[in-house]
Amino acid sequence: MRQAGANYMAMALVRAEAAAKAGEVPVACLIVDGGGEIVAAAENRMRAADDPTAHAEMLAIRAACAKLGQGRLAGCDIYVTLEPCAMCAAAISFARLRRLYFGAYDPKGGGVEHGARFFAQATCHHRPEVYGGIEERRAGELLARFFSARRTSGAARSGGPRARRSPPRIEQGELP
Ligand code: ZN
Repeated sequence: MRQAGANYMAMALVRAEAAAKAGEVPVACLIVDGGGEIVAAAENRMRAADDPTAHAEMLAIRAACAKLGQGRLAGCDIYVTLEPCAMCAAAISFARLRRLYFGAYDPKGGGVEHGARFFAQATCHHRPEVYGGIEERRAGELLARFFSARRTSGAARSGGPRARRSPPRIEQGELP
C-alpha cells in the first residue's frame, strides 16, 4: 500500500485510537520503506503482553526486520504518534532507520528532544533525520483524553517523580 507522506501519521493515529480502546497507552507507529510501502505497523502492547518493552516502535522494528529478513532497516522511515522514549530511540538507531517522524512531543518520557536525547550523545552511532510535531494536536489530544479517562476511573497508578541521584560509586569487593 502506497500513501502520501502526510497520510502515514493519520494511519498511525487510527491504530493508536484502537489501542486506547483496548486499554493500552495510545501510541502506534508505521515503518515505511524507501518506495513508500508499509513494511510493519504496531501499537503499544505493554498491557496485553505483560511486557514493559512492548512499545509500538519495538514491535514494529522487530516485525519489519522479520518480514524483510534483515537486521537493519536502512532506507526505511518510522512514523510514530509520540516522541520515542530512550529505549525506542536506541532501537531506532540500532536499526539504522533513515528518518523518524513523530507526532506529539513528550517532555515527561521522551528520549529524543527531552531526557536522554539519545541521538545527540557521542555514544550514538547512527542518527536518523528527525521531524517532530506531525499531527501533534491530534496525537496529544488522544493521549490527554486517555489519561484523563483513566484518572477519572481511578485506574491511574500514582507514580511520583523518581529521585535524581547519582548511583553510589562501588569500590571493588564492596558489592552489596
Ligand atoms: Zn518507547
